[in-house]
Amino acid sequence: MPMKKSCDKCGADVERFRDLKRVNKVHLCKDCYRKNREKFRKDVIEESGIKDELRKLTNKLKNSNRDKINQMARNRYRKEHSIPFDAPLNPKGSIIKKEATKSFITFEERKQLFGLLIRRGFCYEEATERIKSLVEFEKNIRQNMKEEQAKEKIEKTKQEMLEELWRI
Ligand SMILES: [Zn+2]
Repeated sequence: MPMKKSCDKCGADVERFRDLKRVNKVHLCKDCYRKNREKFRKDVIEESGIKDELRKLTNKLKNSNRDKINQMARNRYRKEHSIPFDAPLNPKGSIIKKEATKSFITFEERKQLFGLLIRRGFCYEEATERIKSLVEFEKNIRQNMKEEQAKEKIEKTKQEMLEELWRI
């Protein structure tokens, strides 16, 4: 007896017997099997009244997947920006582009300082290094001053807000 090689439902031929799935003594092709499962699932959900429950679960799963995806994105961001894994990240949308502090030491001044260092016997690398750290130092001071000013401004605004609050 030749092996059965067609779907009991739609009659489609399959290549091998094992391409058919047996459900309740009926042999189904891939498509019918899938449709059958979908219908079965829908019926079960509707009959058992677990629709809401299931919806909640699905949402929960989606959220947890989203968390995982977000975590992966954060890790990638950390990797790309060389941020350590234990360092906090700015939440999305709050990333304020940090304005690069410009050095007040002009190119001319740097050239003069460089010449001065060379004349005093420093080698090229040492002189370059020294000017670089001087510029960095000056930038840091300026950055700190800016932050200090910002803090002052916030304090002042807070003070004004409080005064406004007490005003009748
Ligand atoms: Zn079929």
